[in-house]
Amino acid sequence: MDQERLTIVVAAFNEADSLPALQPRIAAVLDALARDGVEGQVLYVDDGSRDATWQVMQQLAAGDRRVALLRLSRNFGKELALTAGLDRIDEGAALILDADGQDPPELIPQFVDRWREGYDDVHGTRLEREGEGWLKRATAHAFYRVIGMLSKTPIPADTGDFRLLSPRALHALQQLRERHRFMKGLFGWVGYNRIAIPYHRDPRAAGRSKFNFWRLWNLALEGITSFSTAPLRLATYLGLLTALVAFLYGVVIIVKALFWGDPVAGWPTMMSVILFLGGVQLIALGVIGEYLGRLYDEAKQRPLYLVDSWQPARPARSAHALDEGDRVQRLRGSAVD
Ligand code: UDP
Ligand code: MG
Repeated sequence: MDQERLTIVVAAFNEADSLPALQPRIAAVLDALARDGVEGQVLYVDDGSRDATWQVMQQLAAGDRRVALLRLSRNFGKELALTAGLDRIDEGAALILDADGQDPPELIPQFVDRWREGYDDVHGTRLEREGEGWLKRATAHAFYRVIGMLSKTPIPADTGDFRLLSPRALHALQQLRERHRFMKGLFGWVGYNRIAIPYHRDPRAAGRSKFNFWRLWNLALEGITSFSTAPLRLATYLGLLTALVAFLYGVVIIVKALFWGDPVAGWPTMMSVILFLGGVQLIALGVIGEYLGRLYDEAKQRPLYLVDSWQPARPARSAHALDEGDRVQRLRGSAVD
């Protein structure tokens, strides 16, 4: 029998309070999956936490053989922590889960069902965002609309990282080695058969959100610059527009000077024009700079992350032993026949 495998990847940064509550829920799901013929394991990635997260993880691993641990050398951010986790999976499907219990693990069997139906990218779509202020909701809403308009890659709205990737989608994702990783966009880029599962996103179980407005703003910039060059084109159009206005205004000045002479005046107009053009130029330069900076980062070719330690899961029966058992079973069966 071909055993289906699933690895649940959980990136955690300072989640010592949340993990002990999460692990029993995951373990229950893994038990249910095992009864359903899916060999599941969970991989916790410690993204350079400064609290007791790593110690907590080790306790969890000691208590359950299906727990694998990966620790990064420092805090690399959620996107890279997830990448590090996904890179470690060389067999079967992957499922990404937040450490704070906001994505209910109890839904995982539904994701697996969809995978079995032939979908490669099963993603959870939030029906509402509990425990988040109206400002965060409004800005998130605006962001998904803007990126939807700017980017040619389909990026579904209100979809986080809670998703299952089939082996081939995972393999495709592992080949995307860009440094500036806007994961939602990368998932979209991979394509294949995609389907959404609507779900209610719970409030955080413990601790605080790591994403304040500044980080979210940067994430939004990352998303737009990674998946669209529209801002560069916007700079061109803005330049064309100001050139056109400047030309028309120049005609007005010349005509005025021809008919009414050229007394020295116009200090206010001159100042406003100079300041306006200066501002437009700086904005355009800034936009170019955003892209140039990212190009610079890519050009350095540094590794995406560094691993501090790696502790694989210790399945009770290895895949090999299982195959052996199967064969013995089959031999016995044929002997009886
Ligand atoms: N996270 C991480 N590295 C970071 C920041 C966050 O691995 O630098 C993890 C965090 O532990 C959690 C997930 O990313 O499992 C989502 O973070 P959070 O709940 O703070 O974000 P929110 O749900 O508020 O968007
Ligand atoms: Mg959260």
